[in-house]
Amino acid sequence: MDIILLGPPGAGKGTQAKRLEERRGMVQLSTGDMLRSAREAGTPVGLRVRAVMDRGELVSDAIVSALIGEHLENSGTGAIFDGYPRTHPQAEALEILLEERARKIDHVIELVVDEEALVTRITGRFTCSKCGAPYHDTLHLPKVAGVCDICAGTDFKRRPDDNEQTVRTRMAEYREKTAPILPFYEAKGLVRRVDGMQSVEAVAAAIDAFLDS
Ligand code: AMP
Repeated sequence: MDIILLGPPGAGKGTQAKRLEERRGMVQLSTGDMLRSAREAGTPVGLRVRAVMDRGELVSDAIVSALIGEHLENSGTGAIFDGYPRTHPQAEALEILLEERARKIDHVIELVVDEEALVTRITGRFTCSKCGAPYHDTLHLPKVAGVCDICAGTDFKRRPDDNEQTVRTRMAEYREKTAPILPFYEAKGLVRRVDGMQSVEAVAAAIDAFLDS
């Protein structure tokens, strides 16, 4: 089963994708994570996308579709597309990439959220540097201050693009370029809507219900 998680930045796509990986053995394909790895490794792609990402704008369709193409083979058990596609050309590229492998999208899960609440959610978030467990300044602090609940790591990091100005640009990019791809999937009868403002568990249960239907 191949699914797309759609929703603005901070809607909880990454959190839900990780959970689906653990529970269902599916593979998260996050172009944001791939681009961040390229940046950290200092690859030519990483260097090219750095400034665009820091401004909160979208990087080129060719770059992200090539990254997805490279990672698709490792997701034979089912992919969770997280943060891809984000434009019409990307949606079309994905159709072709999947068709070439006799695969297709089974569900497009749209996480419906309140943008203002998301700004608070995003600007307070941080993760454990060692295991990636997600935390938040006001909504979800580690049980023991400064110590990761999951792996006891003591080093945490924040994304450089999680500041208010960049978040607002990322939201605008979502509204202008990504939300307009929903009708493409609606016409195929694939879109399932989930209230993304619920608890992580309630959102996960709603997604499970769609995947098991
Ligand atoms: P994310 O982690 O999904 O929020 O992505 C972080 C940043 O990476 C975005 O603000 C974009 O600059 C870039 N990015 C990630 N995925 C894509 C994509 N599918 N198309 C264009 N840019 C992307």
